[in-house]
This record gives sequence, structure tokens and C-alpha cells, in this order.
Amino acid sequence: MSDSVIQANLRNIQESIRKAAVKAGRAPDSVRLVAVSKFHPADAVIEAVSAGQSLFGENRVQEAAAKFEDIRARGYSADLHIIGSLQRNKVKDAVRIASCIQSVDRPELMAEIEKQCAKIGKTIDILFELHTGEDSKSGFPDTESIRQALSDCAEGKFPHLAPKGFMTMAPNTTDKDAVTSSFVKLRTCAEQMQRLFPQFPLTELSMGMSQDYEIAIAEGATMVRIGTAIFGERSY
Ligand SMILES: *Cc1c(COP(=O)(O)O)cnc(C)c1O
Repeated sequence: MSDSVIQANLRNIQESIRKAAVKAGRAPDSVRLVAVSKFHPADAVIEAVSAGQSLFGENRVQEAAAKFEDIRARGYSADLHIIGSLQRNKVKDAVRIASCIQSVDRPELMAEIEKQCAKIGKTIDILFELHTGEDSKSGFPDTESIRQALSDCAEGKFPHLAPKGFMTMAPNTTDKDAVTSSFVKLRTCAEQMQRLFPQFPLTELSMGMSQDYEIAIAEGATMVRIGTAIFGERSY
């Protein structure tokens, strides 16, 4: 894909994000775009950075570390969120390169993030991933398990973790009701948790991808994670 195509895609997506927000009665700039650059090279990211995009998402730590170290060494600043399921032995690299782990899905992972962040004196933003769709396997299984995790945070167990909100993946289907129901589940979880834990700013709702981000924005997304519609199809 040529450079100008990425720039044009970014402009179009930004515009339809703003439109979807306004249509939902929200401020046009109330939704942040996470450009998902997995399987696309550093040059594609740099093209997006040059077009004004500052926030990126990757789901494989090794790929992301090599790519974003290269990008930053070349003098570009790009903020990175980890959005994919994270193995324990990848946490050390993940916390070094990212400002947020969106895919926190189990207490053991929180303990490992805490340990690795403590070592380097870094506090990292986290989102709790909730399992809301049929076909994805990732995420905390229910609101109760997230409540327990937040309760551990509130008790001071994880001083280097800064809870900011929630993330989910809708089922990969054209059934609009199933997709909507998945996003509503996340929003409902967020509302309940914000009432229980007012000490944390649990304001982020990361939901919506290339196929379903307009539905997600209608349901309250504050971040949408879009790959294909910006960078084109991935060649695996
Ligand atoms: C790949 C990926 C995306 C982006 O998906 P597209 O359909 O390419 O927009 C969003 N979120 C997660 C967790 C992903 O793994």
C-alpha cells in the first residue's frame, strides 16, 4: 500500500469517527483512534505519524518491540498500546515499550506487570479486558472477576498499575445486535465499576474495530482500535 493511501484512509476514518460521535450526541473529538499496525512495517507507521497519528496498537510484543524501537531510533515519537493477549514472559518487554496494556485479563498478569514495572520504576496505564463475545477467548470472564481485580488495586497490591478503564472485542459477525450487546456489556461493567471505585478514573472504553467502530461509538467508546481500514489487509 502506498504512503498516500494510508494518509487518505486516516483522514477518512478520523472524519467518520467525528461524524459517528456527533450522531451519538457526543463531542466530535471524544473518541481517540488507536491505529493498529500489527503485521505492517515501521515505514507504514512512520507514514501515519507524518499524517498526525500519534497512538498505535500492537498485539505481539516481539514484533512491536523491534518495530517501535526502530521508529523511535529514527526520531519519530509514537505512543504504543498493547492490545493482544499477553504471555508472562513478554511482560518485561511490553512495559518497556508501551504506555498502556489494554489487554489485562487475569490476576497473574497484573502481578507480573507490577513486578516488571517496579524494576524499572514505571507506572503503566491498564485497561481490564472483559470477555463479551462468543468467539474470542480472551478477557476476564465476568464483571465480578474485574471487581476483584480492582479491589486488589484499591488495596494497594499493584502500585505501578494505573487502572483507566475497560476493553473488549465484539464477536466477529455481521449480526449487529450481537455486536451491540457486546459493547453494552462493557459499558454496563464500566458504569458499575466506576460507582464501586470512584478513586480510579475508569473513563476509557476501548471497543470497536474496522468493521464495527461506528456501533461502538454509538455505545460510548472512547477509543477505537482500527487496523485494516487504515493500513489495508494484513498478509499473515
Ligand atoms: C487486530 C486487532 C484490531 C484491529 O482490527 P481491524 O479489523 O484490522 O481493524 C483491534 N483490536 C485487537 C485486539 C486486534 O487484535
